[in-house]
This record gives sequence, structure tokens and C-alpha cells, in this order.
Amino acid sequence: MGLTENYKKILNEINFLNKNTKLIAVSKTKPVEDIRTIYNCGQRDFGENKVQELLYKYDLLPNDIRWHFIGHLQTNKVKDIIDKVELIHSVDSIRLAEKINIEADKKGIIVKILVQINLSKDENKFGIDIKDLYPFLEYISKLKNIKIKGLMLIPKINLTERELNELFKEFSLLKLDINSKNIDNVNIECLSFGMSDDFKIAIKNGSDMVRVGSSIFGKR
Ligand SMILES: *Cc1c(COP(=O)(O)O)cnc(C)c1O
Repeated sequence: MGLTENYKKILNEINFLNKNTKLIAVSKTKPVEDIRTIYNCGQRDFGENKVQELLYKYDLLPNDIRWHFIGHLQTNKVKDIIDKVELIHSVDSIRLAEKINIEADKKGIIVKILVQINLSKDENKFGIDIKDLYPFLEYISKLKNIKIKGLMLIPKINLTERELNELFKEFSLLKLDINSKNIDNVNIECLSFGMSDDFKIAIKNGSDMVRVGSSIFGKR
């Protein structure tokens, strides 16, 4: 199948399960022409995980694309992208949140972020541990130039469908749990989870945003 067919198939599958789930087309490592093809199908939200690559593509592609930063973000690169991205999915430390806040203040903007959560305890290098989540949210909710929109999850690899279901359920419950605490400036509207291999399971568990790469663009 070609790119366009792949894209339409995935979009149909998502819409069939939940019309409100947003598709982020993860275009990392893929050429600008491929992104343009999907753009011409109507897709506007694209995900990248490297700052240099995002900046390169940003310059070459239409400016109504909403870029999502989904990779590990180094603090020294924050200033290069914060005014170019729609949402940073991967905020995983106080240091990073503070840096985004400082640079956003300098530019006079508010940056929308998701907090990356580490539910699997082992393996995943990045993400906030559940035991640190509430102090973390309380702290970064006071940073004026950051808007916390939600949470992001990357499951560890090779989980069974049943394990994924359990993990995704646990993750989904965080939305209710956090919102019930009524922390000032914290309203979790968006849960970003689900990738090529598990987006259907994710949507059935309440995903608001799925990040799909290889099923659209092909293997990397
Ligand atoms: C690469 C990547 C994806 C997309 O993965 P696929 O399996 O290709 O769909 C989603 N989220 C993050 C954070 C990624 O780095």
C-alpha cells in the first residue's frame, strides 16, 4: 500500500473507534516529501523527536502544521523550539519544566505541555514516577508560562495485549484522579498514548491522542 492508503486506513480505524481521538502522525526520520503527501490528505498534526530535524522540517513545510515534540528534550535546546511547537509531550523533570518556563517568559508566550509518566518502573529511562507525580504537578503548576494539558505514556516494549490493557487502564485513571484533586492550574484534558502496534487498545482505554508513525510512513 502507498502512503495515502496507509494514512486513510489508520484514520478510518481511529475514527471508527472514537471520533474525538486525535491522530499525531509521527514523521521522525521520514523525508519532507512524505510529510507533504500526508499533509495533502488533510493531516495537520505531526510528531518529531529530534530538535534539529523538527527545525529543518519546520522551515520547509507549510506553517499551518501543528508540530508535536515527542522525544527527550535537552534543556539547552528548549529555546529553539518552544515558539514552533503546538505541544511538548515529554516534560519529565523539574529542570526541563523550569527551563521551558524561563524561555517562554522571555518570548512572552505560554507553552502547552504534557507530563511524561513512567508507569513501568523499570526499563524506561524517562518519565515521572507515579510516587513523584503529585509534588511534581504542584510545583510546575506554579510556573506561569507553562500550561499543563495532560499526560503522556510510552509503554515498555513487548507487553501482551492484556498487560497493555492493564497499563492503559491505570494510566487513564490518572486523569480522573488528578482532576478530582482540584490543583490550581492543573486540568488534565489530554492523555497521549497509543502507537502503531497498540493504538486500538489505547483508544478503547480512553486515549485522546495517538502517536502513529510506522503504520503510516512505513518502517524506519
Ligand atoms: C516513534 C514514536 C512513536 C511512533 O511509533 P510507531 O511505533 O512508529 O507508531 C510514538 N511515540 C513516540 C514517543 C515515539 O518516539
